[in-house]
Amino acid sequence: MKNPAWLGEPFAIKDNKIFLTKKVAKRLLAEAQEAFPYEYSALLAGRGATITACVPMPVSPDKHVFAWDGPTFLQALQHIRKLNLQWLGVLHTHPHTPPIPSIHDIAGWHYPTLSYWIVGLATAQPEWCVYQWVQDGNSGSFEARNYTLTDAACDDEEARGSSAPKNS
Ligand SMILES: [Zn+2]
Repeated sequence: MKNPAWLGEPFAIKDNKIFLTKKVAKRLLAEAQEAFPYEYSALLAGRGATITACVPMPVSPDKHVFAWDGPTFLQALQHIRKLNLQWLGVLHTHPHTPPIPSIHDIAGWHYPTLSYWIVGLATAQPEWCVYQWVQDGNSGSFEARNYTLTDAACDDEEARGSSAPKNS
C-alpha cells in the first residue's frame, strides 16, 4: 500500500538518519516544560528526513497517557497539508518516567513509517529519544535511532524528491 504524499517516510530517505531543526527542538522543549507535570504532545512535520515544523496538540488531562480526539487530530493534519509539508512524526513527553515507549505507546501506534519521539522530563536534563517502528511478523517494536540537530531546514535535492507533496 502506497502512502499518500503528505504521509512521510523520514527513515527511508537517508538510511535511518533523521534531522530536527534547533528552532523546532527549542519550541518543543519550552512547550513540554510548560505543560509539566502533564504530558505534552505534538505532530512533527517537514520534508524528506528533516523536521522543520510542529503542531502542538491539546495537553492531556491525564498525567500518564496522551490521547487526541478525532477532529483535533484531523485539523492538525490539515494544517500540515496546508503548509505543504509532510507529516513526519509524533512527539510526546514522559513527565515522570524515562523516555522508553510504554505498553500504551506500543499498542496505540498506527503509523509505522513515521518517527516516534519521546522526551523524558523526570531527569534534571531532558532526555530526547527517537524511535522507528520495526515490524516483525505479526508484532513489532520500537528501535532507538540517532538524530541530528540542524541549524536550518536544508531544502536539498533529496528532500525535494519523489516523496515531496505535489499539488495537482
Ligand atoms: Zn509514552
